[in-house]
Amino acid sequence: MTSSIKRSIIVAIDGYSSSGKSSMARQLAKNIGYRYIDSGAMYRVVTLYAMRHGMIPAQGALDTDALVAALPNIKIDFDVQGDKQFTMLNGENVETLIRSLDVSNNVSEVAAVPQVRHALTAMQQEYGCQRGIVMDGRDIGTTVFPDAEMKVFVNASAETRAKRRLAELVEKGMDADYEEVLANVVHRDHIDETRAESPLRKADDAVCLDNGSMTIEEQNEWLLSLFNKIICAE
Ligand code: C5P
Repeated sequence: MTSSIKRSIIVAIDGYSSSGKSSMARQLAKNIGYRYIDSGAMYRVVTLYAMRHGMIPAQGALDTDALVAALPNIKIDFDVQGDKQFTMLNGENVETLIRSLDVSNNVSEVAAVPQVRHALTAMQQEYGCQRGIVMDGRDIGTTVFPDAEMKVFVNASAETRAKRRLAELVEKGMDADYEEVLANVVHRDHIDETRAESPLRKADDAVCLDNGSMTIEEQNEWLLSLFNKIICAE
């Protein structure tokens, strides 16, 4: 049997901040002809909306009630143009804005709000209802698609991840320094791991990948060969 007539599966890639999972997931989706969904981008969009509407004061707590009330007004889409995918908030391309350190500094508080998680989880499950999808995030293998046929959990040291994130920000022309990025990575990991609602953790049936000393090519090859192994066993 060739892989083209095998059934489509769900690939769930979870892991720590800036572990490189989005790049790997995007490349795998391209290689196997699946749709790619960056679930972190969805939490970032909600955060940008909350910041723009004064729900996250510089000093003080997130206005959870206002955010929950506003959820029906936040429409998230992905605009696919060839190889590129842009995240949209109510029709506006916010792909660059959602990657800023300001959004990164607030996103984990927003992502800890149970109603936000429920709304985004439902949207994510809708994207995967036909299967044939690669999705990356924090709770894809545990909560969004506990029945995913392929689950990977990615990690590397906080220092390695902060260096990678800094390089990405600098490449995009954004202002950031290493200590600030490292602090953000550690802070987000802590909130993601300790929140009550679907905390970041490895699914029992996920395969671990520590990619700290791997090149991007090696990671992509590793992921593709795991996919081929799983699809051949289907
Ligand atoms: O993947 P990325 O770093 O862009 O995700 C931004 C934030 O969104 C994470 O730090 C986490 O707080 C939240 N997130 C989440 N669940 C997901 C994806 C992201 O809580 N499935």
